[in-house]
Amino acid sequence: MSEVPKDAIKCLDKGFVRLVDSMGGDDAIVQAARVSYGKGTSKVSQDRGLIRYLMRHRHTTPFEMVEFKFHCKMPIFVARQWVRHRTANINEYSLRYSEARDEFYYPDPKNIEFQSALNMQGRMGEVPDDLKQKVKDYFKEISERSFEIYSELNDAGVARELARAILPVNLYTEWYWKNDLHNLLHFIGLRSDSHAQYEIRVFSDAMAESVKAAAPIAWEAYQDYVIEGLRFSKIEQSLLEKKLPNRVIDDISEDLAYQLTASLHFNKPRDKNDLFLLYQKQGGSDSNEDFNLKWNSGEIQIGNVRELREFKEKLVKLKK
Ligand SMILES: Cc1cc2nc3c(=O)[nH]c(=O)nc-3n(C[C@H](O)[C@H](O)[C@H](O)COP(=O)(O)OP(=O)(O)OC[C@H]3O[C@@H](n4cnc5c(N)ncnc54)[C@H](O)[C@@H]3O)c2cc1C
Repeated sequence: MSEVPKDAIKCLDKGFVRLVDSMGGDDAIVQAARVSYGKGTSKVSQDRGLIRYLMRHRHTTPFEMVEFKFHCKMPIFVARQWVRHRTANINEYSLRYSEARDEFYYPDPKNIEFQSALNMQGRMGEVPDDLKQKVKDYFKEISERSFEIYSELNDAGVARELARAILPVNLYTEWYWKNDLHNLLHFIGLRSDSHAQYEIRVFSDAMAESVKAAAPIAWEAYQDYVIEGLRFSKIEQSLLEKKLPNRVIDDISEDLAYQLTASLHFNKPRDKNDLFLLYQKQGGSDSNEDFNLKWNSGEIQIGNVRELREFKEKLVKLKK
């Protein structure tokens, strides 16, 4: 089996993730999306706005135009979780055809913890040194002994496809794994999450590096809208509608009117005398004097016009 290649990211004690090939990046997403939305102009800021719009509205197919192919080496118990992601194309090292290598995962002592009492699928709490040592010894003992037996059966001419069944799931395997950006982001969203098992998280984090480099805008949008963004259920929304005072919503709407004015002015500069009117059109209710004071404060942020308008619509819905 492969040693850790020079251009790979080392994962766990003997594993790795190596980007073998990739096709496209942010440009390919925009290119595909413009087939649906028409050509238009394609300034970088507009491309960013388009990618963010697609992500926000779960228009996912343009993200499938970007592809990544990785060569990965991981313990079999990690591969068991990984393979649940059905949209990938996989070609794995065959233990029917080739002999197993003496390569087993031994956890780092800092990752040997107690079973979590709060999360049935997790670990927490420092394990005393003597128990850590016992865990390490057992891992070593079972790995070495099973490999001895495997080798003996192999040498005796027993079929490899049967002899392999004696090996434990901390044995390393490796594969080529190809997936598109949409499904890879979904994978990373699930497997880089703190609820995922540590041993698969390190591989997911390693693949995330390739995504960040090839499609930084899509990566940022995924973090903003999917990972960090909040969705409210119908029940939660109705609670917000009931409990959120109108004055709070009005305050936010007022801020939005300023932000919208500044963003529209940034995209297409207006005459100074037209700004107050533009602000009023965005729903602003301050006096002309207050408007001038705030406008000149330098505190108004610029955002994406479409996104700000969508936010405004959501706020209107929350108002009693
Ligand atoms: C923290 C964590 C704990 C988990 N615990 C368990 C567990 O205890 N037991 C267990 O069995 N699994 C468990 N899983 C695995 C989990 O249930 C999913 O199988 C795995 O995360 C793959 O997700 P997926 O189906 O969305 O991904 P993919 O298979 O990559 O699919 C991506 C998307 O494509 C669509 N899709 C793909 N194939 C089909 C299909 N055949 N039909 C319809 N839609 C499809 C779905 O929309 C899906 O979300 C766990 C996963 C995580 C992250």
